[in-house]
Amino acid sequence: MPDPAVRPAGLEFRASAELGANAFALPGGSVVVLDALVELAEDDAEIVAVLLHELGHVAGRHALRQMLQASAVGLAMAWYLGDFSSLLAAAPALALEARYSREFERDADNFAAETLRANGLSAGRLADMLLKLETARQSRLDGKFGAGLDYLSSHPNSEERIQRLRSQ
Ligand SMILES: [Zn+2]
Repeated sequence: MPDPAVRPAGLEFRASAELGANAFALPGGSVVVLDALVELAEDDAEIVAVLLHELGHVAGRHALRQMLQASAVGLAMAWYLGDFSSLLAAAPALALEARYSREFERDADNFAAETLRANGLSAGRLADMLLKLETARQSRLDGKFGAGLDYLSSHPNSEERIQRLRSQ
């Protein structure tokens, strides 16, 4: 059951050409939504659907756990190689480029789907938004800027996610 008391430590709307249509939960529990994602949405429900997915990551403390896991691998490597400076240099990039595991994505989707339904909305609204993000990613890939750090690189398995959300 989604915990109705879960709310982000902060909710920020930002614009960034590099990050494009994106939304993410920071390890501290804040959620950042990029303007391009808001523009992509057809209505508020689609923005809410993505926000709820991010809240699912906040509820599960996924960003923190993902970073700790990545750091644990990094620490083991640094210990093995005796090189801690390279680990420190890589830490910020690790945080931004972290890909959520399939399990974390499923958890966050379940949280979003249940909360959407509890509010009389269809879980398919999140799938609709994922499809739009897919299309946006494709047009970025076709353009000269490339995909960069977009939503689907940090929230992978979108095809599988769309199918699951549509069947719920
Ligand atoms: Zn996600």
